[in-house]
Amino acid sequence: MTCRQCEQKISAFIEDRLDVKTTREMLNHIKGCPECYEELEVQLMVGCAQKAFSEDHEEQYDLRNLAPDLLQARRERVIQSLVLKYYGMVLGALILLILALLLIKF
Ligand SMILES: [Zn+2]
Repeated sequence: MTCRQCEQKISAFIEDRLDVKTTREMLNHIKGCPECYEELEVQLMVGCAQKAFSEDHEEQYDLRNLAPDLLQARRERVIQSLVLKYYGMVLGALILLILALLLIKF
């Protein structure tokens, strides 16, 4: 993924509108690219400031943790989907095994 592609997808990344594959690519790119990380931070802060001004938010945001928290949340989502995929595969294999055993028996 290039910086340009990354920048174009940052808002979708923040709003969690990307598929797992793209989210993973974004995470990998941002991890190794200080420019895009900074861009992510800036967009998060702007979004936060807008939210704080548009409604009377009681919530206190810790601006320093915005980007790390978001990256952590996205990472967890990617891992979750990988785990689900893995379980799906194991379950599929088990069903095939049971079917095969039934076929052999009868
Ligand atoms: Zn970049």
